[in-house]
Amino acid sequence: MPIVCSEAALQYSMGLTPTPAHAATEPQIQWLTTDMSSASVTIVGAGPSGLTLAWWLIQRGHTITVLERESIVPKDMRASTFHPATLDLLADSGLADELVARGTIVPQWQYLIHESAERAVFDMACLSDVTAYPFRLQCEQFQLTELLVARLAEHPSCSLHFDADVKAVTASTDGVQIQYQHHSQIVDADCDWLVAADGASSQVRKSLGLTFDGQVFPKTSITLVLDYPFEDDIANLLGVNYVWLPDRHYSLMRLRNTWRFTYSPEQDQDVDTALSDPVARAHIANISAAAAGATIRSRNHYTLHQRCLDRFCHDRVLFVGDAAHLNSPAGGMGMNSGIHDARSLADHLVPVLEGEDPVLLERYDRRRRTIAREEVQRLSAQNYARHRETQADKRQVIWRELQETVSNPVKHRDYLLDAAMIRSREREQTIE
Ligand SMILES: Cc1cc2nc3c(=O)[nH]c(=O)nc-3n(C[C@H](O)[C@H](O)[C@H](O)COP(=O)(O)OP(=O)(O)OC[C@H]3O[C@@H](n4cnc5c(N)ncnc54)[C@H](O)[C@@H]3O)c2cc1C
Repeated sequence: MPIVCSEAALQYSMGLTPTPAHAATEPQIQWLTTDMSSASVTIVGAGPSGLTLAWWLIQRGHTITVLERESIVPKDMRASTFHPATLDLLADSGLADELVARGTIVPQWQYLIHESAERAVFDMACLSDVTAYPFRLQCEQFQLTELLVARLAEHPSCSLHFDADVKAVTASTDGVQIQYQHHSQIVDADCDWLVAADGASSQVRKSLGLTFDGQVFPKTSITLVLDYPFEDDIANLLGVNYVWLPDRHYSLMRLRNTWRFTYSPEQDQDVDTALSDPVARAHIANISAAAAGATIRSRNHYTLHQRCLDRFCHDRVLFVGDAAHLNSPAGGMGMNSGIHDARSLADHLVPVLEGEDPVLLERYDRRRRTIAREEVQRLSAQNYARHRETQADKRQVIWRELQETVSNPVKHRDYLLDAAMIRSREREQTIE
């Protein structure tokens, strides 16, 4: 299979040259070559789901090819929360500790009524008997993908191809044919197993003509990244805050050197207006007049979907992460559940690669599809509704429930087992 490749990039892929510390972020490696037929699994998409899967498969002795449309690791402002159950999974190879070093540990998080400064504080210390990481780690998802690209690029069993835009896929019971574009070249290739980790707009999913049923949430989400030290200005601020004002809500999340501030457009307001400087700064001023003049490092808007495939396995094409299911980001579960998919798929696919009946993969499908629908979508939709409720009487009911939960140790722990995604990992193991 002809793929053009620079000599330096090829040496890099073979681990012949030392990895520069900044290799993961610099576009020095445009693409790497490999004989794809020698790889046992080809993964489309170098996001958190695809790269964790690649990592776990090479750890167990398999040869992997990763195809990524972009020329460098995408640095988008999406996930910022890693939950304890995910950190536990990433612990075995030291990834969790490297991430912790790049992020901010948040042992407590809260709902906060801005006017009265009343709080409902959740304290994750009560989970220390079931996780080695009893906290939310606030850390951008690209920190994980950069770490993994740096490790995978050095590994002789992994070939990373950037600028490889997958266009078409055909699957059968004994193999998969793919076509991708690399600059002006169209490349046709065969592979034994293909994993679609190519995100919400998955071209693999479209190419197979699969329906992705679900709904769009009514409100768009707008996220600003700000330099301002909100903690100096707002009393009792924690690392993760869901802030209620009488007629609206905000979320304010701390990252290492920045804060993320999230709001939604007003009723009938178009997204461009909602993103505009005066509107953005007016929202910030609602919680901190001083912060309204701060530098806005970035601003993005997201349409929120809840969708799920009917099956995660289609012959030899297997789906993980956002390519398979979508949920509201409220509560920070999308990336985490994609990483949980990756671990579960690795656990099921490895025995199949080593000779077991592929029927085993049906259990992967049952487990992760059930968790996506009955745990992740359910909990994140509840969070979406709870965070955004503005009707005074309904808010009062929610507030009472939150207070009852945080003041009752049994309810508190129960709530956090769900929020930390520990319960969904436990439930998954019980599904046959
Ligand atoms: C505002 C916001 C905040 C969020 N916060 C959180 C949070 O705190 N915690 C959390 O758990 N989740 C959060 N999420 C969700 C999270 O970002 C996603 O669930 C996560 O990125 C999914 O990872 P993935 O690897 O499945 O897909 P992606 O991260 O989308 O990665 C897909 C990769 O595939 C590549 N690709 C796409 N098409 C092709 C193609 N045709 N050929 C080759 N490559 C291709 C893309 O370039 C990309 O690199 C948030 C989402 C939003 C919108």
